[in-house]
Amino acid sequence: MKITEHIKKANGKTLFSFEVIPPKKGNNIQELYNNINPLMEFNPPFIDVTTSREEYVYVEKEGLLDRKITRMRPGTVGICAAIKHKYDVDTVPHVLCGGFSKEETEYLLVDCHYLGIENVMALRGDAMSHQKYFVPSKGGHNYAKELVAQIQNLNCGKYLHEVMEAASKADFCIGVAGYPEKHLEAPSLQTDLKRLKEKIDAGADYVVTQMFFDNQKYFEFVEAAKNAGIHVPIVPGIKPMAVQRHLKLLPQVFKIDLPETLINSVEKCKTSKDVRQVGIEWAIQQSKELLAAGVPVLHYYSMGKSDNIHAIAKELF
Ligand code: FAD
Repeated sequence: MKITEHIKKANGKTLFSFEVIPPKKGNNIQELYNNINPLMEFNPPFIDVTTSREEYVYVEKEGLLDRKITRMRPGTVGICAAIKHKYDVDTVPHVLCGGFSKEETEYLLVDCHYLGIENVMALRGDAMSHQKYFVPSKGGHNYAKELVAQIQNLNCGKYLHEVMEAASKADFCIGVAGYPEKHLEAPSLQTDLKRLKEKIDAGADYVVTQMFFDNQKYFEFVEAAKNAGIHVPIVPGIKPMAVQRHLKLLPQVFKIDLPETLINSVEKCKTSKDVRQVGIEWAIQQSKELLAAGVPVLHYYSMGKSDNIHAIAKELF
């Protein structure tokens, strides 16, 4: 079922969902199942599976370093199909512009359609680690809105090189990213909202936000989005702080602010277990307020381990 249909069917009740990251290659899927299993008691109607960009590895050959390109994690579509059929739940593969040509994206979407995956999250992806700015792959998209348009074309039976009157046309529900504290490259929040509106106009059906630790930022963003003409569901993305290092890492990587009270609480922690507990309690408070405000879904970033998401969901769902 489409995410937008799940939201409609819930009739105002807030849903629980989460995102998983495929484990590094060489592992088997059991590790992922072990993290998903405990969360299934909260009846998520859908689970997102992230996609990672290709990476360079450096191999020493006759005293010289040779650069090779590789993918570190197994493919998202296969994982989505496995989770969907094991748990009878909808899955949302994250589809990236970066690292893919339009043709490769089409193959991936054809696979999704064939496997009964009805939702996709359309994202640009970040620059590779050695790049300062995002560079599209040869024959790939520059911005997420172009990817949204490609998916919409497929929904109309328009493939890249042909129009097909297929018996069962794709009908993807499309999610896109939104940034309550603006995307790090955007010159202003208002411009970023204009770009978000372009993604909706291209055919996106719902928005999932970047993590934020101050709910006010989310409430103001939803209001500003409405004023900018965006009327699709805006799902808040919640990430529980898990390690002391996040105090530096999260603002640096995502250009988000952390509330002073949260910083002070984490700084007082003596062990990593204490930090994890502070993260859980903060996310519970955030979630309670968002729940009271009637958000459509509470969507959690699990970053691999799910024990903290379980502790949070237990208090709410
Ligand atoms: P876009 O919407 O294309 O925007 C990128 C930037 O370009 C913004 O600053 C925007 O304002 C600007 N822009 C847009 N259109 C134009 C234009 N026409 N002219 C000039 N500027 C423009 N990354 C992954 O690698 N894998 C994942 O699985 C993944 N999942 C994510 C899930 C969520 C919910 C979120 C919020 C992010 C996720 N990301 C993921 C990160 C995402 O790929 C990065 O944040 C990326 O830098 C931007 O992606 P986007 O889809 O928002 O890009």
